[in-house]
Amino acid sequence: MDHLVKEALEGEFRVNLHDADSIRRGLISYMVRVVGHDPLAAGPRQWFQALAHMLKGILSERGMGTSRAQYGQDTRRVYYLSMEFLTGRRLKKHLLDFGLEENVREALASLGQDLDVLAKEEADPALGNGGLGRLAACFLDSMATHRYPGHGYGIHYEFGMFSQTIEDGQQVEHPDSWLHGGNPWEFLRHSVTYPVRFNGRIVCFKDEKGHERCEWVDTNDVHAVAHDMKITGFDSPAISNLRLWAARATNDFDLRFFNEGNYIEAVKDKTTSETLSKVLYPMDSTVLGQELRLKQEYFFVSASLQDIIARHLRVHNDLHNFHEKIAIQLNDTHPALAVPELMRLLMDVHEMEWDEAWAITRETFCYTNHTLLPEALETWPVGMLEHVLPRHLEIIYLINHDHLQQVRFRFPGEMEVLRKMSLVDEDTQRIRMAHLAIVGSKRVNGVAALHTKLLREKVFPEFDAMYPNRFVNVTNGVTQRRWLLQCNPKLSDLISEAIGDSWKTDLTALHALEPLAEDAAFRERFNAIKLANKERLARHLETRTGFTLDPTSMFDVQVKRIHEYKRQLLNLLHVIHRYVQLREGRIANPVPRTVVIGGKAAPGYYLAKQIIRLIGDVALTINNDRAVNDTLKLVFLPNYNVSNAEITIPGANLSEQISTAGTEASGTGNMKFALNGALTIGTLDGANIEIKEEVGDDNIFIFGLTTEQVQETKRKGYNPWKVVEHDADLRRVVDMISSGYFNPQQVNRYNSIRDTLFDGGDQYMVLADFRAYVEAQAHVDDLFTDSDAWARKAILNVARMGLFSSDRSIHTYARDIWGAKQMDL
Ligand SMILES: *Cc1c(COP(=O)(O)O)cnc(C)c1O
Repeated sequence: MDHLVKEALEGEFRVNLHDADSIRRGLISYMVRVVGHDPLAAGPRQWFQALAHMLKGILSERGMGTSRAQYGQDTRRVYYLSMEFLTGRRLKKHLLDFGLEENVREALASLGQDLDVLAKEEADPALGNGGLGRLAACFLDSMATHRYPGHGYGIHYEFGMFSQTIEDGQQVEHPDSWLHGGNPWEFLRHSVTYPVRFNGRIVCFKDEKGHERCEWVDTNDVHAVAHDMKITGFDSPAISNLRLWAARATNDFDLRFFNEGNYIEAVKDKTTSETLSKVLYPMDSTVLGQELRLKQEYFFVSASLQDIIARHLRVHNDLHNFHEKIAIQLNDTHPALAVPELMRLLMDVHEMEWDEAWAITRETFCYTNHTLLPEALETWPVGMLEHVLPRHLEIIYLINHDHLQQVRFRFPGEMEVLRKMSLVDEDTQRIRMAHLAIVGSKRVNGVAALHTKLLREKVFPEFDAMYPNRFVNVTNGVTQRRWLLQCNPKLSDLISEAIGDSWKTDLTALHALEPLAEDAAFRERFNAIKLANKERLARHLETRTGFTLDPTSMFDVQVKRIHEYKRQLLNLLHVIHRYVQLREGRIANPVPRTVVIGGKAAPGYYLAKQIIRLIGDVALTINNDRAVNDTLKLVFLPNYNVSNAEITIPGANLSEQISTAGTEASGTGNMKFALNGALTIGTLDGANIEIKEEVGDDNIFIFGLTTEQVQETKRKGYNPWKVVEHDADLRRVVDMISSGYFNPQQVNRYNSIRDTLFDGGDQYMVLADFRAYVEAQAHVDDLFTDSDAWARKAILNVARMGLFSSDRSIHTYARDIWGAKQMDL
């Protein structure tokens, strides 16, 4: 068999990747035989497809090798369950990982095609909201690069994150039809299909052996169909699989309707069940308790677990050693139904007893918490669960029964603790998914040192006391392959020339750059690269906003989801303050600045959308005012996504990471910017704290209230009016916003923003941190006037970012959480 496969691969489709001529012949062949287009008439779109199909063949071959090695070596597999994967475009990533970019570029050039133009033909698969989904993508990259047996599981949304345009100053959402032109990377596996059940009722009975068994009957079923995407690692023989489930109606149309002769009704039913994987919920850091979302969560969890069990049973006789061979990571609580679902499968389908099933379950799962915000903690109404997943509700109650027994034992007589720790919120009759995930997991991790500390001390102190070794920290990281090598080729070349290539798979190697901060020639080249990246960004922004920008001005950038806790509003208050100062000639030698803000607001998040609108109104006023003499520009970058991030981040001088202390779990944008040589202005929040420790206090601009000070200020009774009363500059700025200075045609437009700052109590301490922020920005200006001093610090930032690679995160998970080993390949 083996030699047959080999023979077939050596036929006409075999391409020698080391030879641009051979690649060209291959491309022509794929164009004719797979794309079905005449090479003489083909454009970039068709050449992109031919190239993608050619690479897909290589992906498949190498994937087979990894898969065989995994079965052969039988080491523990890691399954990463996530509702979101924000992978970004694939083409250049694969070329980079395979080391093929130059040969392919040359082959395409001989066909009159430009690789960079082709690459833009690919839709950016936006199957995630922001940081959480992007983290999942970085982790898959690191697992493949470092040969861990990792597999991703998620949802094959037909529509991912909406694309954003700004019309009349306001955000408009457009459906993201990323599959419109087809997805050449995916392998549709009709044969890998599992039924997923909903509703129905439970019938319990005694089996032949006298054991109590339960059956879930009269259910409404949907099929989950696997779509696989191959994830390559850098210069690595390992390939990971990302399996995304799409919902398909079961073949049996509703017979009732058929028998009544109502064909159309029966087909309607079919489309309803397919809405399950239709669209990604476009909300970051908030939850909406909708039944469709609950069903999405269960849908992908159930299909994934059935698949994981099937794979296990392919090489093992039974499930008794399941937890020894498998670790399953839950990315937030979105997949937390995996806990009762595994219990159900083990007991009801595989006839295991409760005690053993529970022991296996608790040894299998690990849970990553991503948020401290109460509005982002998932809970589901008991009534909804009872209707949608009756068996799971029963299992959750049984888990809770045992759990509360242990709580009573650990905290005897403490009724309040018992109420607090229960999986059920008795007041609201809702199931607390975080509690379910904690109880059902071997390890629970936060995503930055401060976040983990707050989880242990403030959010779940009783759980931490009861399970002393369960809570651990794994600070997030980003992959340097996408966030430096791919997005900033010029800086990457400079670094490699100076210190060699090893940083690409070991980011701590960047330490070797430190002495070069003192090398004037190196600083000059570093600055020239930054300028070139700013010019690229300026062109990008100019075509999208219509404003002209000065690439030599300081590029001050805040790109991330628009959210009150991330405080784009604080940024804007500073911009307005600066505008006033400039107009009045109160800054002697103003440092020219271009402030860039970008990000999407959840469609139902009124205040976030108002903030976008205000940015637009302020931008129009400032950018058209000759009085500020072009020393200040403000632009809103529309449609922030991975592709736009790749252009934006390398072009920043200043990185805005200014969340209210104690609200941002980690942040990963902060890491990407510093890695690309931006200096950070930030609060002591999330991973900013660890970034500060690494780069040194002199190389970062830290300001504002600490987490304790925020809590203390609130405890004492924080009064926003008092703050404004004592700060004339701030008063002026908020008066301009509330009096309609930037929008005379509708002066009440921003009442909601004023109200949140005053009557609403300024929950995120925007006003409280204003003065400290303005002062920190003055230090930023001072430093920027000394371009040599700035460059020294920027280089030191790059050199000291070694800790923030997702490679380090993954090695830590593998060692401390999963007990996973690197494969021999
Ligand atoms: C990195 C990234 C994020 C996360 O940014 P934060 O600043 O950590 O919130 C969000 N969206 C995209 C597209 C990203 O690349």
